[in-house]
Formats: sequence, structure tokens, C-alpha cells
Amino acid sequence: MALSDARIRQITDDAIREVNGTITTPGVASASEWLCDDANEAVENAKQSQKQLAGMPLEHRGRIVSAMREAAIKNAEVLAELAHNETGYGNVPHKTLKNRLAAAKTPGIEDLHTTAYSGDDGLTIVECAPYGVIGSITPSTNPTATVINNSISMIAAGNSVVYNPHPVAKKASTETMRILNDAIVAAGGPSALITTVKNPTLQSGSTIMGHKDIKLLSITGGEAVVSVAMKSGKKVIAAGPGNPPVIVDDTAVIPQAARDIVDGASFDNNVLCIAEKEIFAFENIAGELVSLMQQSGAYKVTGSDIDKIINTVLEKSDGKYVINRNFVGRSAIHILQQSGVSYIGAPNLVIAEVDKYHPFVVVEMLMPVLPVVRVRSIEEAIEESLRAEQGYQHSAYIHSTNIKNMSAAASALNTTIFVKNAPSYSGLGFGGEGFTTLTIATPTGEGLTSAKSFTRSRRCVLKGDLRIV
Ligand code: NAD
Repeated sequence: MALSDARIRQITDDAIREVNGTITTPGVASASEWLCDDANEAVENAKQSQKQLAGMPLEHRGRIVSAMREAAIKNAEVLAELAHNETGYGNVPHKTLKNRLAAAKTPGIEDLHTTAYSGDDGLTIVECAPYGVIGSITPSTNPTATVINNSISMIAAGNSVVYNPHPVAKKASTETMRILNDAIVAAGGPSALITTVKNPTLQSGSTIMGHKDIKLLSITGGEAVVSVAMKSGKKVIAAGPGNPPVIVDDTAVIPQAARDIVDGASFDNNVLCIAEKEIFAFENIAGELVSLMQQSGAYKVTGSDIDKIINTVLEKSDGKYVINRNFVGRSAIHILQQSGVSYIGAPNLVIAEVDKYHPFVVVEMLMPVLPVVRVRSIEEAIEESLRAEQGYQHSAYIHSTNIKNMSAAASALNTTIFVKNAPSYSGLGFGGEGFTTLTIATPTGEGLTSAKSFTRSRRCVLKGDLRIV
């Protein structure tokens, strides 16, 4: 049968693309398709684009993901500036690092593995299939890095995604989506693999959560949104809050522990859910630890200065302390100044020696204010860490050279992430081994999410044949 002109053109175009390694389609996604007035429209457009993606070769999906990474790396700093300017949280250099990390170390299609069972009865394979359209709710604290990370994971898995970003980070989140969509289109992909609404609200979030075509929800945020999503009746991958303790025992290398804790707890002004939120230090090394932390940039407050900070950065709600959102992710200097506490130098972290019931220990602060509690033994350190962590099972840390203490704490604390002798961010593959994610699914158990977390497992059985031994 003779080939038609159109078919010949298609074959030559495909060959040129393969030789060039890139796709020649112009790289601007039409905003009318991915940036929608209405959440239902955003779901419908994402559904059509997902169908197109499902029909494309896996190799092409890989090139789309590569283009997304490249665009995110290229724009990492611009997006960091946007997120910082819009939310006031954190700082540009650290947000740039988070964006780069998400772009470079979020696994792509290589994360999808086929399992095969071969035996007398033939061959069975189990493959990772896409869900279809995923609804993703993203936080204000890591807005651009979460969109980069979630988009790579979900699209590498063959899905499309509809976002309802946090309203306070709407512009930065939407600009990240625009950059990624343009990169997808430039790589020959569909124009609405990533969609959203122009004005994300609780209402648009609940429309997405309840939509019949949304097959999976990915929720990254605090307790309230996780519990709303759990009531949707859909499959939910929930990345909820934490309050990570760090234990320092009397076998730790104290100068290193002091530096690591200051680095981890001050990174992006402590907005990462995994950042160190309270220290339990053995009493015989606590003084040395605090003094070395001061040498690493921490500023120690005492007495009435601690009360001034409580009255500034915390509020009472139903008789309990909660954070004053105006101080989330603000710098240590801003917090000290607004609290009317005088200081010297340019501290990047506020530390205070307090008791184990203090609000700085109990509340997930999300700002560079870190309490230090003295303990007498590993048993007490573990007991108080468990109390402070409040059953979230999110993240915990230890600085120690005693393997019995390390093992006891890792086992008893039972968290999704446990890091020994390094800053908290090592648990996200930043200066530690392993891939990265910005969605750490603790309540629903997927752990550090990656492409395969966003797939359905499907089995196909062939009776009798295809076994080759
Ligand atoms: P948040 O809970 O205020 O908001 C998260 C998202 O949920 C936002 O998009 C918000 O608009 C939405 N939302 C809130 N209530 C909702 C409702 N009733 N219905 C629909 N949508 C709703 O969180 P935040 O302050 O932006 O982020 C900080 C919190 O998120 C912290 O508790 C932190 O530990 C957690 N977090 C967890 C992870 C993780 O991977 N486990 C990652 C980042 C942040």
C-alpha cells in the first residue's frame, strides 16, 4: 500500500524531531485552556489533555518531563522572587535552591517499574497506570517548589493535574504553571496538562475535590484541608503537618550538631514542614550546644523577652496557642524587632531555653524560633519528642554517635523521615542521598511521593506462553 503525502510528512517530521532531540511546536500554551474561570472547565480541559498524553509514546513523555525540569531550573530564581514577594515568607536564595532541587531531583518516568512473574503458568506483568486527572491542593509555604515537584511526578506518571493553589500564593503558583505548560507545549505535549482557576478559593477547592472526573486528590497542607479531603470519598494522598523534634545526646559531635540544627531550622525561615521545630538536648551538653548555636548565627532570648515574642507571634484560639499568620516564614530579625526585643549582630534564628510544655514546643511554629528543652536520658528525650510530635509521625532527627540511642529513637519515633547527624533538609535529598519531594504523605502512608505514588497498579496475565527458560 502506497504511503499518503500526509503520512510521509509525519514520518519525516518525527525523524527530524528525533535527530534534533527536541520538538518543534511553538512553546506557548494557550492561557484560555489552562487558566480557567471555572473549576469544572479546568477539570474538563485537563481531562482532554490527559487523553492525548495517554496516547503518546513513553519516550515522548520523558522528553516532556525533561523540558519541564529545564524550564523550572532556568526560572528558579524568578519564581523564588515571586513567591517571596507575594507571601513575604522565607528568602529568595533558599527558595531558589528549593525550586532547583524540585526540578532536578523529582523522579521522572524512570520511577515507573514493571513487575513480572514468570513460571509454569506463563507470564504475568504488573504495570503502573495513570489515574487520569489529579486534583492537587498546594500550600503557601513552598508554593512554586510544590507545583514543580507535583507536576513532574504526576505527569511522569501519565496524569494531568488541576491545581487549587493557596490563595496567598496564587500569582507565584500560577506563574510556575505557565512556565511548565509552555515547556510542555514546546516539547510537543498537550496544552492543558496543568490547569487551574484564575481565582482559587475554598469553593473552587471543594468543586475540584467533589468533581466526578477527579480520580485522585493530592493534598499538601495543614490538618484542616487534610480532614476536608478525607471526607470527599475519593482516594487521597495526604501530606499533613508535622512538628519535628531533634534530639542531641551527650555522644554527639556538638559543634557539628549546632551548625546543622541552625542551618536546618533557619532554612527559608523554617517554613518547610520538615524543619527542626524543637530541640531535646541532654543536660550535660545543652550549655555547650546553645553556646555553639549562638556562634553559628542563633540569638538566645531569655526571661521577659521570651514572653514578648510569645505575645507577638502567637495568638489564643479556644484557649490554645496558635500561630499569628503574619509571622509565618518571617526572618528572625523581623520577629525580634516586632517583639521589641533588642539584639546584636544579624541572627538567622531565635533560640530559647524553655520547659517541655512551653508553647514554642507544642505549636508548629513555621518561623525561625526554636526552643531548647533539657533532658536527662535517651528515654526522656524520646518520650518528650513523642509528646511534641503529637502523633503526626512526620519527621524527627538525632545527633549522636551512640548507635543504640540512634536505633531506639528511630524506632520509637516511627516517623516518615528520620535523619541522623545532618540538617533536616538532608531528608529531602538536599545534601543527603535519595530523591526529593515537596509532598510527604504521612497520614495516608505513601511517604515521600514520586511518580509511582500517582499510579494505579494493573495486572495482565498470559496463560502458558512467553516464558523463555
Ligand atoms: P494550609 O493548610 O493553610 O493551606 C494548604 C492548602 O489548603 C491551601 O491551598 C489552602 O487554600 C487549602 N485549604 C485550607 N483549608 C481548606 C478547606 N477547608 N477546603 C479546601 N482547601 C483548603 O497550609 P499552609 O499554611 O499553606 O502550609 C503549611 C502547613 O502545611 C503546615 O502545617 C505544614 O506542615 C503543612 N505542609 C506539609 C507538607 C508535607 O509534605 N507533609 C508540605 C508542606 C506543608
